[in-house]
Amino acid sequence: MSNQQPKQAAYTNSDDVLNFINGQVVSGSSQRKQDIFNPSTGKVSRQLVLSTPEDVATAVAAAKSAAESWAEVAPIRRARIMNQFLRLMNENVDVMAAMLTAEHGKVFTDAQGEIARAIDIIEFSCGIPQLLKGDYTDQVTAGIDNWTMRQPLGVVAGITPFNFPCMVPCWMFPVAIAAGNSFILKPSERDPSVSIFMAKLFQEAGLPDGVLNVVQGDKTVVDALLEHPDVSAISFVGSTPIAQYIYERGAHFGKRVQALGGAKNHMVIMPDADIERTVDALVGAAYGSAGERCMATSVAVLVGDIGKKIIPLLEERAKTLKVKDGMFLDAEMGPVITKDAQTRIEGYIAQGVAEGADLLVDGRGFNVPGHEEGYYVGGTLFDNVTTDMKIYQEEIFGPVLVCIHVENLGEALDLINNHEFGNGVSCFTSNGHTAREFSRRVQVGMVGVNVPIPVPMSWHGFGGWKRSLFGDMHAYGEEGVRFYTKQKSIMQRWPENISKGNEFNMPTM
Ligand code: NAD
Repeated sequence: MSNQQPKQAAYTNSDDVLNFINGQVVSGSSQRKQDIFNPSTGKVSRQLVLSTPEDVATAVAAAKSAAESWAEVAPIRRARIMNQFLRLMNENVDVMAAMLTAEHGKVFTDAQGEIARAIDIIEFSCGIPQLLKGDYTDQVTAGIDNWTMRQPLGVVAGITPFNFPCMVPCWMFPVAIAAGNSFILKPSERDPSVSIFMAKLFQEAGLPDGVLNVVQGDKTVVDALLEHPDVSAISFVGSTPIAQYIYERGAHFGKRVQALGGAKNHMVIMPDADIERTVDALVGAAYGSAGERCMATSVAVLVGDIGKKIIPLLEERAKTLKVKDGMFLDAEMGPVITKDAQTRIEGYIAQGVAEGADLLVDGRGFNVPGHEEGYYVGGTLFDNVTTDMKIYQEEIFGPVLVCIHVENLGEALDLINNHEFGNGVSCFTSNGHTAREFSRRVQVGMVGVNVPIPVPMSWHGFGGWKRSLFGDMHAYGEEGVRFYTKQKSIMQRWPENISKGNEFNMPTM
């Protein structure tokens, strides 16, 4: 097959996207619907039901009832069902990747990569018997033992963003469900098809009805989940203003909350960096998935004289990116998510020009032949950006890379540590001491050394610092297991049957 041809037929399905409650696909009580677009063509592909608080109540009731018996299932048996889900996910990678490209716009191979990272978390969750093991202390004092165990919370919910419609839900529901909870997922309105697809696969794997529910919708559904007394915890991933809202509102209603927010990720390029490899990494990190990754590099910090060598190479690469429909195998970048996003990103580019930055490559008005109505923005490159500019301060969430020049590592660290976000960061260098200093001093949650997008593996956990994460615990990994369980301490004595009279003293060792 020529790589100028689509790899496979695009995903098409014109049925409405509905809810998945108590093991059934149901439309719920809402009359409201919203269009789902293919960002590459700008055409409506399906419609989504926008559910009501009554639909949320139905889902929570189903989840609550299912949680009681699911928590009683032995962890090894839960793990076996997870194993079957893992198998089915692996068998359906290409089907789901086509779904993602059709609704998100990311290129097909990148969509396959997203699903692979989602599968990592499912695989991690298969180890739940080991992850739930508690501590035990024999003989804390004469005849008394003390141990801790972790028990599920009950009904927990997840609210997810458009940019990883498969992976981000999988940061949450496999871990929560393996730990013995039931789960309600509220996916993004933009690309919800894969959520229902995964719920059906999990059911096929043997998951009891009601343990995983999907309620489609917007703020109405989110608010109903936040307010519902039977929802014990909320995991959120999305933009910072909404993350803060979820965190504050969830806490108000007494829930456990982890709310991951936006980002502005810097890549520091030291004068001793390997230039060719750094440029390869930077172009992929800045423009991959049209810059719509929370770990995308959006700021290149050029230290000393490296800027003079790197800028011409970056300019050349940004101009020659293969921007086209994501089903083409040679596509490097697809469209952005919506018409509004396209307008917002083009607005930032105009603002950068007005603020005095040097626009070296302008992605505005980008035309993909045959896809004139698609939401395309070409790769965009700014040089000589300063910290007072909006294009430096704010998350653009598009294919716009800004370059800023500093004299040394200390200045680079000050810049990053003063930024409001602290999601991901990387440093490219050939000096071990520089790498070590950078890693220790940088105020960011996820750090890469000669690795551009340092997304932690499934057993390490994902989370930023500062305004990139509200809450105490990172997503997935052991922190994820802790988030979805509560610790119980049990102290036990089995005395011989001889009473020693009333006991008033605190026990001493
Ligand atoms: P978003 O905040 O607009 O939406 C996220 C979710 O919140 C969606 O399910 C949406 O329906 C819901 N929502 C939107 N507005 C709401 C409101 N007013 N009240 C209640 N709920 C609301 O984010 P998005 O545009 O879908 O995703 C992009 C953002 O997500 C970027 O800021 C990106 O950095 C961030 N993100 C962060 C991470 C991370 O790990 N830190 C990962 C992925 C994406």
